[in-house]
Amino acid sequence: MKFCVLTLFPELFDPFWNHGIIRRAVQGQKINPATINIRDHAKGRHRVTDDRPYGGGCGMVMKPEPLAAALAEAKKGMPSATTLLLSPQGKRFDQPLAQSLASEEGLILVCGRYEGVDERFVDLHVDGEISIGDFVLTGGELGAMVVIDAVVRLIPGVLGNDDSAGSDTFCDGLVEHAHYTRPSTVDDEPVPDVLLSGNHQEIERWRRETALMRTFMKRPDLLAQRELSPQERELLVKWRRDIDRLIG
Ligand code: SAM
Repeated sequence: MKFCVLTLFPELFDPFWNHGIIRRAVQGQKINPATINIRDHAKGRHRVTDDRPYGGGCGMVMKPEPLAAALAEAKKGMPSATTLLLSPQGKRFDQPLAQSLASEEGLILVCGRYEGVDERFVDLHVDGEISIGDFVLTGGELGAMVVIDAVVRLIPGVLGNDDSAGSDTFCDGLVEHAHYTRPSTVDDEPVPDVLLSGNHQEIERWRRETALMRTFMKRPDLLAQRELSPQERELLVKWRRDIDRLIG
């Protein structure tokens, strides 16, 4: 899958492409990354990329022409890519959106700065706007990294079996079970016995049940949206009975 980021700060992406699973995906040719400096596509001696807003007011606005020229450059290598603008006004990024973006041929991510980008660039060139949450950042670069990181790990073959995304939180609408590693006891806190039992069926059952319990405790909103399986319903009813018994 091809990724191209349009940014005024391309150097921020050098460490990003060169570490961890992203680096492994690049080396394994699962992803093909590129970063384009919007300033390289600005005209004039000073290569100006922003200007004052029409109508007055504070801050600067990113000019449409350098953005369009940078995008045209990106599209040369990936004509069928989807162009997404990082924006606090965009669709909220989540795991289902990451999953759907992972099946795109390519993504071009446009990072705004200052007060944002000239609206005509959005109207003419942008396929969608993505927000990474209800807060305002100084630029789209961190947002682009968040989106790329979440998408890349869902591309088939990027994660090995050892770190598969299949049971991750949100993948099937629950938070994930707890994880433990050696040593088996820390500050008198032991690992749950079942995980040392070697009984894979029991371990699987424990993981499913505790994922449900943890979702109930940490993210009840996810359970409210979920169509419960008969087994999950049965477990919740059993816990309700246990709690009723405890409080008398
Ligand atoms: N004036 C804009 C507004 O109120 O909608 C905010 C501009 S913000 C200071 C500058 C840039 O940061 C935006 O153009 C966008 O690219 C990026 N950005 C800020 N918050 C973001 C968020 N929550 N998600 C994605 N990108 C964001």
